[in-house]
Amino acid sequence: MISVVIPIYNEEEILSILHRAVSNAMNELDEAWEVVYVNDGSKDSSLDLLRQLQQSDPHVVVVDLSRNWGHMGAINAGLQTARGDAIVLMDGDLQDPPEVVPQLVDAWRNGAQVVTAVRRSRQESRKVLALLFPLFYKVLGAISDYPIPLNCGIFGLMDRQVLDSLHGLREGNRYLPGLRAWVGYRTAIVYYDRQDRVGGEGKLSFISRIKYAMDAITSFSYKPLRLSFVLAGLSFCAAAGFGLAAVASVMNGMFYALFATIFFMSSLPLLCIGVLGEYLGRVYDEVRARPLSIINRVYEAEEALAEESIRAEAEFTIANRKVDGKVGRMYPAA
Ligand code: UDP
Ligand code: MG
Repeated sequence: MISVVIPIYNEEEILSILHRAVSNAMNELDEAWEVVYVNDGSKDSSLDLLRQLQQSDPHVVVVDLSRNWGHMGAINAGLQTARGDAIVLMDGDLQDPPEVVPQLVDAWRNGAQVVTAVRRSRQESRKVLALLFPLFYKVLGAISDYPIPLNCGIFGLMDRQVLDSLHGLREGNRYLPGLRAWVGYRTAIVYYDRQDRVGGEGKLSFISRIKYAMDAITSFSYKPLRLSFVLAGLSFCAAAGFGLAAVASVMNGMFYALFATIFFMSSLPLLCIGVLGEYLGRVYDEVRARPLSIINRVYEAEEALAEESIRAEAEFTIANRKVDGKVGRMYPAA
């Protein structure tokens, strides 16, 4: 079975269009499916509409949260409820087009355990966001300690095993596109064109976006903690430069010496902050307690032997077919 998980917050204008698009895409697949709508404390009639959808379509599962927990909270509740062997995650405003889901499923059927949907292009009517998104991905790409695919959101597919690995992580401040890459597994990428919202206003506040961006950066980079080391180094170099100038200059010696002292004195606390940062980073690692590695599969010797005997049997059959000429032993002559 394939589960589609969709967080919903005040989306009454578009729920019926959304469900039609999701059903059309899922019915194309020759597979059982469910769609888990997570009502994230909507204040409009979204919950009632979802319950109505459920009455006419048994594929619908509705998870109603106790209040508005935010995008990641809603997604997490949906992931815990989904029962599929593969789980597709997408937003509920049709910015992630359901027509792409069959491609994600194809990639999964071809052996990928994680399928990441990457934006080839993005329609964004909100001008500030249109500027900030590429900037965010540039910064994240530049400073991330682990290579995470850029220009992708939550849209994508995960195999059940990948989801179990994600559930095993303890950290609360989750940047899902990053963690989904971090857990590893065989990954495929599907490109798509991100549309503008089909109706209604964007539901994420600017503050929650900033928090999400900070989660992304702090979960995947030590570099901000090391900034003080860089500043301490620059300050120390400036101090050395002014020190040399003070020795060399007859006229302005005192002036340069004063600057050298200022820069030298400011490099010391920066250095100490850098050392604290190194310890803090390690404490952060210990608290998050990410596993040191994740096993995809253990290949047992018996399995290899079994595979070997199946292979040998197949070879034997083929060889016999060759010996018998046109008709092999599996197909006795008429
Ligand atoms: N959403 C949610 N809880 C929230 C805010 C948003 O479940 O507190 C849902 C929303 O209904 C949508 C998805 O998360 O399905 C993405 O939100 P939105 O489209 O507003 O984000 P944007 O596209 O503006 O980044
Ligand atoms: Mg959106």
